[in-house]
Amino acid sequence: MKIAIPRERRDHETRVAASPDTVKKFVGLGAEVLVEAGAGTASSFQDADYEAAGAKITSDAAAAVNDADVVLKVQRPLTDAEGGPDELSQMKKGAMLISQLAPLQNKEQVAAYAAAGVDAIAMELVPRISRAQSMDVLSSQSNLAGYKSVLDATSEYGNAMPMMMTAAGTIAPAKAFIMGVGVAGLQAIATARRLGAVVTATDVRAATKEQVESLGAKFIMVETDETGEDAGGYAKEMSDDYKKRQAELVFEHVKKQDIVITTALIPGREAPILITDEMLAVMKAGSVIVDLAVEMGGNVTQSKPGEVVTTANGVKIVGHRNVPGRLAGDASALYAKNLLNFLTPMMDKETGALNMDWDDEIIQGSALTRDGKIIHPLLTEGGN
Ligand code: NAD
Repeated sequence: MKIAIPRERRDHETRVAASPDTVKKFVGLGAEVLVEAGAGTASSFQDADYEAAGAKITSDAAAAVNDADVVLKVQRPLTDAEGGPDELSQMKKGAMLISQLAPLQNKEQVAAYAAAGVDAIAMELVPRISRAQSMDVLSSQSNLAGYKSVLDATSEYGNAMPMMMTAAGTIAPAKAFIMGVGVAGLQAIATARRLGAVVTATDVRAATKEQVESLGAKFIMVETDETGEDAGGYAKEMSDDYKKRQAELVFEHVKKQDIVITTALIPGREAPILITDEMLAVMKAGSVIVDLAVEMGGNVTQSKPGEVVTTANGVKIVGHRNVPGRLAGDASALYAKNLLNFLTPMMDKETGALNMDWDDEIIQGSALTRDGKIIHPLLTEGGN
């Protein structure tokens, strides 16, 4: 079996879908691995490292991908309409594409995978069951994003984070407020605490209270009988009354904060607005907000993707794109490991050939297309 690793070509993408470590494992399992020259450079993986791990380096993407049985990527293929090159057209019929594919936002592209006879697997749809934890790209990347968001906040913040008692006087610790306590939010709490901030956090899911407190932070939440959680353990959209009371609570709280990190997402919808213009207007000059949901519509009214905006009253709103990619080495290493863990159970230990179990719960949850047809329940007619 041939596995190809092309260089990622989308703007702001610094990650790569294989590390020298995972290449070595794939080669050990009997696969032939082709890596496009320079594919790992932005993650500090050199061609020579891949070569030493057993990969063949190709001079361009087409030479790696043309004959590959499996193509591993970080981001969905570029299309002609996006300025190309058309990455899908480089793949052979019957090949398998394994990547983050944002299928619900790009349904036409899913149809193109089917038309090209490419079997596409969307890693972000791998079900979050215990057996699949080591394949969970959302968790591996969000964890790093949560960590980096606090570092990005501190580098924009013009004051120190911890309490410092000096001969010249005492510096009060920074107050950090984390909104949305999923994987990214929990890591943001832990990181802000390590840096010495006084940390509070909120979420619509009451189950997060215990997790917040176990990290030494204070939980702040609207008193309600409403459950903020759907059957899958994800957040759901709350009632208008809840949203109004949450806004009042946040309005009073953010007045006193130095750092705010927003991470709130609702699967399949635009991110909820948590920080409004009115709240921004009462925040302290010099305070910093990092909007980790900026690429999904944003949790802050005035955040802008790819920019650090300063409001009229001196609040900085950080909207970096692709925050995991700002820690490209670790993000790539963990993402690559997720893909290795996904593929390994399907590889024949003797021949290295791919032996897909299409009835497996993990494959059923993540496979979009098979043999020229769209098969995922979220995309076929019955699922719409
Ligand atoms: P996410 O990225 O979808 O959302 C981030 C957080 O924002 C969530 O905690 C959500 O409740 C919160 N949120 C949404 N709307 C909000 C609002 N209006 N106000 C405040 N907070 C709001 O979350 P995630 O990191 O993907 O985690 C979601 C769920 O998945 C959690 O239950 C988590 O424990 C679970 N999970 C399970 C596994 C596993 O079992 N393998 C792995 C990771 C996560």
